[in-house]
Parts: sequence; C-alpha cells; structure tokens
Amino acid sequence: MSDAPILKDTERTTGRSALQNNIQAAMALAGAVRSTLGPRGLDKLLIDDDGRTLVTNDGVTVLESAKVEHPVARMMINASSVQDKIARDGTTSTVLMSAEMLQNAWHLVTQDVHPAIIARGFRMAEAYAHEVLIELALHSEHHHRLLAAQTSLAGKGHQSMQLLLAQLAVDAAEAIQMNTPAGIVADPTRVKILPQSGGSIGDTRLVTGLVLAKNRIHEDMPRVAGAGKILLVDGGIERRSMKNDMKINVTSPGVLESFRAKEVELLQQQVEHLKELGIGLLACKEGIDEEARVLLAKAGIQAFRRVARSDLDLLARGCGATLVSEIKRSKASDLGAFISSKNETWGSVAHWIVETEEGGATLIACGSTETVLGEVERSFADALGVACRMLEDSRLMAGGGATHVALARRLRRYAESIPGREQLGAEAFADALEVIPRVLAENAGLDPIDTLLQLVAAQVNGGDDSHYIGLDLLNRRPANMVEQGILEPYLITRQSIAGATEAAISILRIDDVLWARQDPTMAEVPEME
Ligand code: ADP
Ligand code: MG
Repeated sequence: MSDAPILKDTERTTGRSALQNNIQAAMALAGAVRSTLGPRGLDKLLIDDDGRTLVTNDGVTVLESAKVEHPVARMMINASSVQDKIARDGTTSTVLMSAEMLQNAWHLVTQDVHPAIIARGFRMAEAYAHEVLIELALHSEHHHRLLAAQTSLAGKGHQSMQLLLAQLAVDAAEAIQMNTPAGIVADPTRVKILPQSGGSIGDTRLVTGLVLAKNRIHEDMPRVAGAGKILLVDGGIERRSMKNDMKINVTSPGVLESFRAKEVELLQQQVEHLKELGIGLLACKEGIDEEARVLLAKAGIQAFRRVARSDLDLLARGCGATLVSEIKRSKASDLGAFISSKNETWGSVAHWIVETEEGGATLIACGSTETVLGEVERSFADALGVACRMLEDSRLMAGGGATHVALARRLRRYAESIPGREQLGAEAFADALEVIPRVLAENAGLDPIDTLLQLVAAQVNGGDDSHYIGLDLLNRRPANMVEQGILEPYLITRQSIAGATEAAISILRIDDVLWARQDPTMAEVPEME
C-alpha cells in the first residue's frame, strides 16, 4: 500500500470491518449496563485494582469505572457522561438506544445501504422525534415534581430511601433556584453533599446554607456571627517557610531576631488590613499562623483555615465574593456578604454553617457504610438533577417506555413519507427507541416481545390519552403512566434521544480505524519519581 511508510507502526481496519468492530464494541458496552435499567434492574458489583468494591445500579457509574480501551466504547461512555452532566439522569437509556440504533444500522449495511444514508435517515427521524416529544409532553403540577424525582430513583436502594431522597432533592432544588432574566435557573452544583459515615440513611437531611466539617481556629473567636462581610483567601496567613535553598547571612547577633520580628510585623499588618476592611468572617485555603490567630480572635473575626478550594468556590458564589490571593491587596470590592455563620458540634465533630443571600444548601448524607453512603450520594445527585431541570422546564413525559412506544409509532408513519433510502434509516431509528420498553420488561422477568406487543396494542386501541400507556413495573402490566405517577422530565428524555443519536451517527461515520501498534521490544519507560 502506498501509505505504508507513514502507517508503519499502525494497525488499520477500514470500511465494513471497521464499522462492524465498532458496532460490536458499542453493543458490548450496552450489554454491560442493560440489566441495570429500570426499577427492577439489578445492581453491579464493581471492584477496582486495589480491591475496593462498589455496588451500584447507576449505568454511568458502571461505565465510568470500567477499564475500557476500545476507542468507540469510550465514545459511547462519553455520550453517557455528557448526558450525566447535562441531565444527571437517563444515562443507561442513552447507551442502550445508541447501541440499538447501531445494531439496526448494521442490518441495513449488510443489505448494502450506505452508512451515510442511514445517518441522514437518523437525523431526519431525530428532528421529527423532537417535534412529537413536545406534543406528547404534559404540563406538570407541583406534586408531579416529587413523582418525577422518585421515578429517577427507581431501582436504587430501598423504597423508603427513595421517598426521602426525592423529597430532599425537591427541597434542595427550591433552595438554590434563582430568577434570572432568562427564567429560573437551578444549578445542582450549588448543593453541597457532605457525607457522614455512621448513622442510618434515615438521618440524611438538608441544611440551609453551606456546611463544612471545620472548627474556627481559636476558641476565643465568636461561635456565632450575625450578618457581615466575608473575605476568601486562596492562600494563608503564614510566615514564609524557611526553604532549603534560602540563605540568611547572620552578620551580627541581632539579625535573626530582627528577621523574626519583621515576619511577625508583616502578619500584624495583614490582620490590621482585615480589621480596616471590616470583615466578620475569614476563610483561607492554607494555614493561619499562631500569632495571627490570636490577633484575629482579638479583632473579633471568625476565621477558618485549610478550606478546600471547592468549598471556597461555593462560598464565593453564595456570598458574591472574589477569591484573593494576597490579603494585603484585598479591597472592599472583593468582599462578600453572609447572613449568619455559626460553629456547632454534631456528635463529636465541629461543623461550620454559613448562610448566604444567594441560598445554597447542603445535604448531610448519612449511611452505615461507605458503600451505602456512596449510593445515597449518587442517588441524591440524580434526583437533584431531575428536580433542578424541572424548575427550569416543568414539562413531563410519561415513563415506563410509554413515550418511546408512542414516538416509535409516530416515527414509522413519518418514515413512510420519506421517498429515498433514508426511509430505512428512519425506520431503524424508530425500532431502536423500543429497546427501552423491551429491556424494562426483560429486567422484570417479562417476555420482551409479548410485552412490547401488548403495549403497542394498548396504545392503538386506547382512547385520547393512550400514548401515556407504558409498563407499570410495580404491577407488571400496561397502565397509564400519568395516573401511576411514573414521570420523567421532558428535558431528560429529549437529551437522551439527542445524545444517543449523536453518538450513533458519529460511530456510523467512521470507516477507518488506525491503532498505534504497541512495540514489545521498546524498553519500558521508568516511572518518574
Ligand atoms: P437511566 O440511567 O436511563 O435513568 P434507570 O435505571 O434510572 O436508567 O431507569 C430509567 C427507566 O425506568 C425509565 O425509562 C423510567 O421510565 C423507568 N421506570 C422508573 N420507574 C418505573 C416504574 N415504576 N415502572 C416502569 N418503569 C419505570
Ligand atoms: Mg435513572
């Protein structure tokens, strides 16, 4: 081959066999999460290199912890991670639909339909699906929010935990919502999750404000501070540490003393500056020296040290403060405002609770073991994502596969109107959406094909609201999902269909895979110390 010299150390697969390999990788990946879908989904036990274990029902957690090297499988994982970031939920569904689209595409490729045409058919079908989604969406009432948050927790943990976490997620989302000119914005990253081992899940609760497991650095500092100003320092109040390469020429007996005295004076100046700024609260990322602590306590400033950068960022957002790197240079405009700041001892651990104008909330996640805690944290994050999305857009879709069956029916009719071969792509897309009700049935021990046929028949023969008929897995039969309260936010269903299509199309477009060949004779590079 003419490209041989350049691709000397490369393995290459092209055309159909590349596509086949890639589709196999995508399906293998979907196979790994398939059994976790839905309320009857099973858990996975994940074991890492160090033998640590994690039991989870969360598709994205499974995928992100898996050591997957195939580049296409990684692309699918990325699609589900994007879904996770944008929508927080619907990750397993995204991967399943994407793999199903690819599998259906492969049938067409073997019948000599070009992948590019299939991809065009997918695009057309996706655009139409989004229109139909809007038609099928229903406007929610307040109590639906709790139901949708609960649906997102289906299959995760015990039912009493689901109800508790769903309620806490709805409360947390309300605590952090903000009115902006563009509408309500609820950013789930403004809710902090503080895990506490010991205790039971039932002790999990929501606290208004930001909670950190920290104690003020001096007993004499006020335990409770009322409204005031706060300064956030991306550093500390410390004497310069004596570095190894630092050299002081001691020429006369007093030099070292005066050097030390100068250092203390510098600390005093910093505290003076803080007093002038009139702050009541100080949080530093690094340490605060003993001398400075006493001075700060005398000045009546409540101070905390070694505050994690992520907490400083949350404080900055909540208080409207700017992080400063040097105290000397801090200005009044860098300060933020807080409503109250108090130190409380819970159990035997000191906690610092700050309430700010911009809201902010902390989930105190309790659980008896690390494994339980991890699942509480992840489940809450899912439900919180759902609750936040619902504040931004209150539309809902029927769950339990109802929406996917209804979409597939509409899409098949639409496909018939496409004159070219793209029609086949659009049909393949429609069929792929039905993977959701099929797998939901499968995981509940029901026959996937019979169940799907029952659902379609129920929707065809039902009345006006028949597109809400899905699979009620608590009672294992088709039912009206709206009446059963099995609901999902519109934004999440929409995003999962968009993400699945995106990933499938980008994989269909690849017809050449170049792998760098590993050279076994190459000496291993020694690890850097
Ligand atoms: P994902 O990672 O895609 O969110 P889940 O394991 O959370 O996967 O499963 C979500 C699916 O389970 C959705 O299609 C949802 O409608 C469905 N589901 C949740 N609760 C029920 C229920 N009680 N009956 C039927 N389907 C349900
Ligand atoms: Mg889910």
